[in-house]
Amino acid sequence: MPSYRKLLQQVRAEISELDAERARELIDGGEPVVVDVREQDEWDEGHIPGAVHIPRGHLESRIERAAPDPSRRVLLYCSAGNRSAFAAKTLEEMGYEDVASLAGGFTDWKRNGYPVELQSGLDAPRRARYSRHLLIPEVGEQGQLKLLESKVLLIGAGGLGSPASLYLAAAGVGRLGIVDADVVDESERILADGWDVIVDGADNFPTRYLVNDASIWHDIPVVHGSIYRFEGQVTVFKPGVGPCYRCLFPTPPPPELAPSCAEGGVLGVLPGVIGSLQANEALKLALGIGEPLIGRLLLFDALSAEFNEVKLRRDPDCPVCGEHPTITEYIDYVQFCAGTREPA
Ligand SMILES: [Zn+2]
Repeated sequence: MPSYRKLLQQVRAEISELDAERARELIDGGEPVVVDVREQDEWDEGHIPGAVHIPRGHLESRIERAAPDPSRRVLLYCSAGNRSAFAAKTLEEMGYEDVASLAGGFTDWKRNGYPVELQSGLDAPRRARYSRHLLIPEVGEQGQLKLLESKVLLIGAGGLGSPASLYLAAAGVGRLGIVDADVVDESERILADGWDVIVDGADNFPTRYLVNDASIWHDIPVVHGSIYRFEGQVTVFKPGVGPCYRCLFPTPPPPELAPSCAEGGVLGVLPGVIGSLQANEALKLALGIGEPLIGRLLLFDALSAEFNEVKLRRDPDCPVCGEHPTITEYIDYVQFCAGTREPA
């Protein structure tokens, strides 16, 4: 059995190696996929800008995601060029056609004074806390950092707002605002703080119309949810992209069509289902992934345990988001909704 030194010599003779100068030329030309095979703590202390981090122990299982085309050049590096030499050999055995190892590794790269990117991302406790997210390719570290910087405003801390806030906080949303009670007096706060997403779990019409108008004027998507007895609904109102609440309900529905949960009741678990779905939509919007429920109303029937979907259209004559808006500043929402009862 060959010693480590002998095996290394043998492997280095079989693979292709590049010095730091040549590696930099290639990287500046944007040609290779650059893969850092060192451990997490080494990566955190600095790495080649644009490199992908795949610790040596995960190379075989994760390389296809980073470099799906085996004919594209892959440049591997570690600290001194030994681990990356073995990694290059492995990739060749996996069918990668143009693999090279950076001779002298990151140490030599730094010695040449070439650019180094410092890890400004998650510290160790946060990495442990959000480890499940970091494993999802669509989220990963960049996504988690986005969530940590995101600001979500919850309207209503009741049945819908409580489960939504629980999951949004657990997901690492950086700033959660919760407005309960009288939002009509809170319009200044909705403006002022630069929220990324509003989760609307309001239990009254004046608040819903106010939140809608504010969201249009400040270009903030609203994740809308409502519940009644065994039925729940979720949709996303994204200004300029899909309909808004007023496109669907230019005026508050008459009282007989809008009984409240206080009057008609609601199944205890339903707010949990709908509030969680609202949190799901808010996370997708904050991350910029998936297909948000824009122009789609998701209906949940707890009795049949069925989901249905209804398409929603923008109204070109909408008084707020239409082509010729007639409402361009805050109105007296309580008066506007007078005569209606509280919705679910
Ligand atoms: Zn509208």
